[in-house]
Amino acid sequence: MENLEGNGFKAAPADYFSGKAFLKTLVAADELTNCNISDVAFEKGCRNNWHTHPSNQILIVKEGTCYYQEEGKPIQKFVVGDAINILPGVKHWHGASPDAPMVHIAININTENGMVNWLEPVTDEQYNA
Ligand code: MN
Repeated sequence: MENLEGNGFKAAPADYFSGKAFLKTLVAADELTNCNISDVAFEKGCRNNWHTHPSNQILIVKEGTCYYQEEGKPIQKFVVGDAINILPGVKHWHGASPDAPMVHIAININTENGMVNWLEPVTDEQYNA
């Protein structure tokens, strides 16, 4: 995973991830393109903080198994090729399984309204539940 840095990937902000993650912008939002598309690579065991999005976020799994949880629901597992449509305002997190890295595409729409509202970290107890 360390080799990803410098290959178009940049380290994700440590404040919002437990473990190491890397981001690569595939389509950047601008005045004409209210959509951001990125690859996000998580090392094994890594997950992002609880968060919400002001508009839908769509994830498409490219490598590994994606752990995904919405508040009040059990963790769901998605495999390569699966897509997850996350509705606006739904509190959730996503990340790798404990034993292997995971890469997903993240599509954020209506970026003129913002992309993400970060919340508290996912505890080990929540992750291992
Ligand atoms: Mn999300």
